[in-house]
Amino acid sequence: MALIAQYFIPFISYPYTGETIDCDLCGCPDHKVICRHDRRFKKLQTVACLQCGLMRTNPMPTKAEIEEYYSNVYRLDYGLTLSRPSKRHLNRSHDQAKSRMELLRPVLKPGARVLDFGCGAGVFLHHAKTAGYETLGIEPGSQFASFARDELGVEVINDIWEQVELPHNFDVITAVEVLEHLRHPVLAMRWLADALANDGILYVTVPNMLPSKKETFRRFHFAHLYQFTPTTLTWVAAAAGLEPDPRFEPNGTRIVFRKTEKGPCLPDFNLNYGEGMCEQYAHASVSQYLLSGRWLRSMGSRLTKSIRDTIR
Ligand SMILES: [Zn+2]
Repeated sequence: MALIAQYFIPFISYPYTGETIDCDLCGCPDHKVICRHDRRFKKLQTVACLQCGLMRTNPMPTKAEIEEYYSNVYRLDYGLTLSRPSKRHLNRSHDQAKSRMELLRPVLKPGARVLDFGCGAGVFLHHAKTAGYETLGIEPGSQFASFARDELGVEVINDIWEQVELPHNFDVITAVEVLEHLRHPVLAMRWLADALANDGILYVTVPNMLPSKKETFRRFHFAHLYQFTPTTLTWVAAAAGLEPDPRFEPNGTRIVFRKTEKGPCLPDFNLNYGEGMCEQYAHASVSQYLLSGRWLRSMGSRLTKSIRDTIR
């Protein structure tokens, strides 16, 4: 219990040791610190690769430490219940599923095979199945996988992706807010690209980490091991043999990819991208933020949104 509490107490470090790793995308060991805290005001160091700019948590939690976190802390940390998805979560998932279907439907043939990687409670799969598509989900969380199967009637593999062998014939794969949670996003992208039919598409969204007005530390979270900009996401995809599909206009870090003819290969990195990016993240002081009272306004708007999404 004391260990779990350490994940939530502000200003102290997370209860993990981690390991120093090279960049998952380009293999470069050199990096620069972007931020030393996260949105809980806890100590958490995020660095950017000096070559390609891909951001990661440093030190990186080990595989065992990640498993420990997801087994005991993750759902609590995200304000989700351990037993079943909250009404707020389901309402938000329905909205997101609807817009995802609207975007993808024009290019889907009847009976298309749809995989949702990190399907959570299975809401998107339910929408896709109702629309007549053949569906499959992958979800490591057992409670959410059970909900998807038992209450929404969709087929879900309840396992971590490294243990799952997929056929190579999916017409569309979606991965919504998943890649940032994985220790090896490049390998995961290759695994997804392999599972696509030749003319299949991969719909990906991750948080867009281009510099913004928001205080830098408020954009980081222990569960997010990697951070992407539209450029680094596209480079990770290229390393997996994917390129943006011209039929879909990219929207920040929401991008629909298709397979390239040449297959997986490292892109021509703009070698100044990583270093240039580091300069753009302004240092924001946690104590000044707390003293300014700005956190009250942010807390208020989060609470309002949460209530609205629960009771509608
Ligand atoms: Zn790199």
